[in-house]
Parts: sequence; C-alpha cells; structure tokens
Amino acid sequence: MRDTIRRFEDRVIAGELLTYEEGCQLAAIEADSPDLLDLISSANRVRLHFKGTRVDTCSIVNAKSGSCSEDCAFCSQSAHHGAGVESYPLLDSESIGRAADEAFDAGAEAFGIVAAWKGLREGPELDQLLDRIRDLVAKNKGHVDGSLGHVPNDTIARRLKEAGVHTYNHNLETAPSHFANICSTHTFEDRVQTIQRLKGAGIRVCSGGIFGMGESWEQRVELAVHLRDLDTDVLPMNFLNPLEGTPLESATPLTPRECLKTIAIYRLMLPTANLMLAGGREVNLRDLQSWAFHAGANACMVGNYLTTPGRSTAEDSRMLSDLGLDSPLAVPQPVATQDASPLKVISVGA
Ligand code: SF4
Repeated sequence: MRDTIRRFEDRVIAGELLTYEEGCQLAAIEADSPDLLDLISSANRVRLHFKGTRVDTCSIVNAKSGSCSEDCAFCSQSAHHGAGVESYPLLDSESIGRAADEAFDAGAEAFGIVAAWKGLREGPELDQLLDRIRDLVAKNKGHVDGSLGHVPNDTIARRLKEAGVHTYNHNLETAPSHFANICSTHTFEDRVQTIQRLKGAGIRVCSGGIFGMGESWEQRVELAVHLRDLDTDVLPMNFLNPLEGTPLESATPLTPRECLKTIAIYRLMLPTANLMLAGGREVNLRDLQSWAFHAGANACMVGNYLTTPGRSTAEDSRMLSDLGLDSPLAVPQPVATQDASPLKVISVGA
C-alpha cells in the first residue's frame, strides 16, 4: 500500500485530482495498520506543499438556540428530539458584540453568528440580524461570518453580502446517499442550492460534514467528491459527539485513528482546501488532536461549540506553537513554578 500512497501523493502534488475510486482505495486502509502512518505522512507533505505552516482560526456564538423545526439526527437543538438543550431567541447586539470581542481578543480571525432554525426569511428577525452583523462589521476587528441556515432566494443572499457577511457556513453534513438517514425535513439538494445562492452573491462558503453518523468509508469519500465539486472555501470536519436525547446518542464514535484517516483522505482528495478541525475534536481525537494537523488540517475552530464546551484557546495556541505551526492565537507565556529544581522525578508503582 505504501507505494500506492506515495504514487497518489506525487500525482496530487503535481496538480492531479484523485478519483472517487482512488479515494476508496485509501479508505480501504485499516486505521489500525502501519499503512495509516504512511497515509498521514503523505497528507502532511501535501498540506505543506499547498498550505504551508499557516493555521487559520475562527470562533462562533450560538446566537439563537434550540427549538429548531428541523430533525437533524445529530443535533440537540432540534425540537423533534427533546434533548433538553437551552432555548433562547436571537441574542441582542450587546451580547453578540461581547462574544465577538472575546473571540477576536483571543486571536480568532473570524467570528461566526450561528442560529438554530431552518433558515432565513424576510421579516423583522432578518432585519435585526442584519443590523447585528452591520454593527460587528463596523467595529472592524475581524471577519464576520454567519451560519444561519437555508437561504431561500438570491435577494436574501445579496442582503447578507451587503450587510458584510464574509463567509457563510452551510454544511452538506453527510454523503447524499446517507442524507435521508440523518434528516427528513429537508434534502441534500436544499443544502446544495443554498451554497450555490451564496456563491452567486459573492459570499465565501464554508461547508463540510460530520463524521461518525453511521456512514460507510465509501460515503465519506462520496461527500469529499461533492464538496470538491462545489468548490467551497473552507471545509469544516466535525466528528460526532453523540449527545443524550438525540437519535444518534448511541452511535459508536470514531476512534482517534479513524478520525486521522478521514482527515488524511480529505487532504489527498482536496489538496488545496482549507480543512478546518471543528466540533467533536476533543472527544474523538483525545490525545491525538495535535496529529490532525500532520494528517492534513490547516484550520481550527477555537473556543466553545454550539451546545458543548471546547477547550481553552491557550491550550490550542500552545499545541499549534509546539507543532511549529503559525497561527494568530496569542502564545501563552510559560507559568513560573514555585519549585526551582530543574527536574522532578516522580516514581510510579511499587
Ligand atoms: S443542525 Fe441546524 S437545521 Fe438541523 S436541527 Fe440543528 S439547528 Fe436545526
């Protein structure tokens, strides 16, 4: 397998794209086999070739939580599941402004306003939302992004652009052949249409998926091909954190090595994409989180997620700096200890 992986790497670096079938060849690698390290090494070289050592960062606020009309099986904010998540209406301008200040001060380059609802429609709520976006854009502290659901027409897409939305997140979530198992209240095609409308309005698009929702390895490759065809700007890679009360609460999580394998396949399939390590990374990758960048990630969501806490930006900053990667996060200073002795030996066991 090593020769095949190296051959694929050479072709990708020379500018060729791997086919779906070739992606499936990579997907057949056992995550527990030594071939995984070859795959990761190749993905790392491809990342360095196309993206260098830079890691982009963004942060989000859950600006409207819970009671969503949609039934996405992974989501604790759906009104269909009764997962007991806190519900609240659209946050006021001050609350969103405070969250944005915190994110930008910690070094996030982009700040995303996220709302749990089916999507946007004309009316006072959209007007308020656009006002909040304009307020943030006027502060000029970083990019203002949105993850506000379905965009039903070109007029609303244009209004988002005019208000100053820099990038809009709308994940495809999973492969088209698996989508109906995950959501019945809207379709994969609805999601694709929103992305096309946003692109038509000149808004950058962030679209990726959630892995570990019962999809096969071939379906992970299928999603990669669809995302590549859509030619979006950022590709968030989320790993399911099964939440109590959701239909996927008993899903078997991916192992850390399966997560790394997924990232590495995506780097080889989408060599120039901005692969963003996103939700569920702490729970699924555990101590192997830092490996995700060697496996091909070149962007990272920092701070808290929508309904679950993330880890501190100081820890992420330390991780990226230890990896020798460049990020806008402020590097924490070493903490002075009380103990002046340079070496402490701790003996464990009998
Ligand atoms: S993922 Fe979005 S659209 Fe789906 S239930 Fe959750 S908040 Fe609603």
